[in-house]
Amino acid sequence: MNNYLDLKNTKNFSEIDKPANVIKKGGLVLFPTETVYGIGANGLNSDAVKNIFIAKGRKQDNPLILHISSFEMLNLIAKDITDMELKLMNAFWPGPFTIILNKTNIVPDVVTGGLDTVGVRMPSNKIAFELIKQANTPIAAPSANISGKPSGTNVQDIFDELCDKMDFIIDGGNTEVGVESTVVRVIDNVPVILRPGGVTAEDLKRVAGDVKIDKHVLAKLENTEKVLSPGMKYRHYAPNSKCVLVYSDDNQKLTSKIQELVSENKNPLIISSTENISKYDVPHVLNSGSSKRPQEIAQNIFRLLRKVDSYNPDIVIIEGVKEEGIGLAIMNRLIRACEYNYIKM
Ligand code: AMP
Ligand code: MG
Repeated sequence: MNNYLDLKNTKNFSEIDKPANVIKKGGLVLFPTETVYGIGANGLNSDAVKNIFIAKGRKQDNPLILHISSFEMLNLIAKDITDMELKLMNAFWPGPFTIILNKTNIVPDVVTGGLDTVGVRMPSNKIAFELIKQANTPIAAPSANISGKPSGTNVQDIFDELCDKMDFIIDGGNTEVGVESTVVRVIDNVPVILRPGGVTAEDLKRVAGDVKIDKHVLAKLENTEKVLSPGMKYRHYAPNSKCVLVYSDDNQKLTSKIQELVSENKNPLIISSTENISKYDVPHVLNSGSSKRPQEIAQNIFRLLRKVDSYNPDIVIIEGVKEEGIGLAIMNRLIRACEYNYIKM
């Protein structure tokens, strides 16, 4: 395949000009970022951006994030930036941090779903950063997955799903963070988390002094409610199998509840922390990582959610994690994967 670049084990990026040219010409490029893989297109070319929506089957009103490699690019697409917004960008860029800003006229409506704001991020992944720099344009990129499915954190997981739809694929191995960027909007000088991610509420509080978390990060959205971020409305990250999320701060209670659910089902599959695996007597238990290192669980979770259907389980029982640090982002994704089927004790 000559439209495939393997950069898994090399720091030699001399061939990134090829996918960068694909972006310049209006094509779609699958590329790694530090969070998850993205499907990238020239963010200032409406026709190219439309093809992202078609490839993913994404609803038109769910806006895309523009990825940049410099503050010059930022000034091209965003305006009226406040001191607090600048402070946050300086603290968390490059990195897994997206900020919602007022957009300039150059940003096509198709990127923002008609909103007058735009989500902007400067990624730290060297491949992503170099791709944007060489394409010399902001790159619009949602997570690499068909809408509703778990995001891709390595090329193998999403190859069959997306390869026909891409003009170029860059393989950068497994992504580092494993869940998407933190999406923040500053309201009345306070950062409000619309989607938790790699930059935590605690990190934001350290820089801004205060932080708010939108209630829809963990709570279900009612039909009549207005949302600050259209992505909150949609089904996400879900396997085809029925899933249930279980969590308690008391590990004994957690494992007992899961054993009870196991006894009620014929072919349960459990996604368990490393520490609890030996407590479950079922044929299928997947190891999500150590509960002492939630970062490990974040890295693994989408890969595991993509795997569960192959076991044909009648139920997937998933151990939750504490809703702090990166744990808030993990729980935000798991609650949606389980379609709000969440037992908290
Ligand atoms: P994804 O592209 O899959 O990483 O999802 C991007 C997320 O950013 C979605 O939840 C969007 O709703 C959110 N987002 C992007 N642009 C905006 C915006 N202008 N205002 C609010 N949320 C946004
Ligand atoms: Mg997504």
